[in-house]
Amino acid sequence: MNIILLGPPGAGKGTQARILVESRGMVQLSTGDMLRGAKDSGTELGDRVAGIMARGELVTDEIVIDLIRERIESAGEGGGFIFDGFPRTLAQADALGELLDSIGQHLDAVIEMQVDDEALVARITARSVCGNCGEVYNDITRPIPDDGKCEVCGASDFRRRADDNEESLRKRLMEYYKKTAPLIGYYYAKGLLRTVDGLGDIGNVRDQIAAILDGGDERREIRA
Ligand code: ADP
Ligand code: ADP
Ligand code: ZN
Repeated sequence: MNIILLGPPGAGKGTQARILVESRGMVQLSTGDMLRGAKDSGTELGDRVAGIMARGELVTDEIVIDLIRERIESAGEGGGFIFDGFPRTLAQADALGELLDSIGQHLDAVIEMQVDDEALVARITARSVCGNCGEVYNDITRPIPDDGKCEVCGASDFRRRADDNEESLRKRLMEYYKKTAPLIGYYYAKGLLRTVDGLGDIGNVRDQIAAILDGGDERREIRA
């Protein structure tokens, strides 16, 4: 089963992707994580995208499509892909369709996570991430344990993202509404769109997604 988690910055895509990896053995493909990895390891690509990411703009389609192509081709048989933060433009969505086609696979669902802007700002300005394993924390809704160690891996290296400030977030939200939100109509027309209320707590959103994934194929019959 291959799915896309679609939603604005801070909607909870990364958090839910990690739950699906843990519970279903799916493979998370996060272009944001890949780009941050390139930046942290100081590769030429990393240097090229650092400024763009800090400003909250989108990097070029070509860069992220190449990253996804490499990962898909090297992943082999697994529990299915979760695309997290990709695609973000119509060109990326077309490219993903072709890539999956070329390996004899298809998308099963596109899950749109709806969260209003006010909650997004509150979530993102309180976000931190384990520098060792990538577990996502939140000062208010998912605090770092009292002993200062990551619940998942035990490390004590928590980081704030360089782009998790109000100015960059405003730009990221604008990019989302202008360039990414059109994907909602695109996937609706393909009969793949499912929507969850992302304002529930983490467990509630997890349950809504599970109901979609376990609910079978009944939406397929209205497929265009
Ligand atoms: P968030 O968790 O806020 O949704 P991501 O970690 O997915 O953000 O992405 C962080 C930044 O990386 C984006 O603001 C953008 O600069 C870049 N990026 C990630 N994925 C893509 C993509 N599919 N297309 C273009 N840029 C991307
Ligand atoms: P995205 O990958 O869509 O940018 P994240 O999964 O990184 O979003 O979540 C953004 C922030 O909101 C993190 O600090 C995370 O701990 C928190 N968060 C995620 N899901 C929820 C939720 N359902 N309710 C409250 N806070 C959440
Ligand atoms: Zn950790």
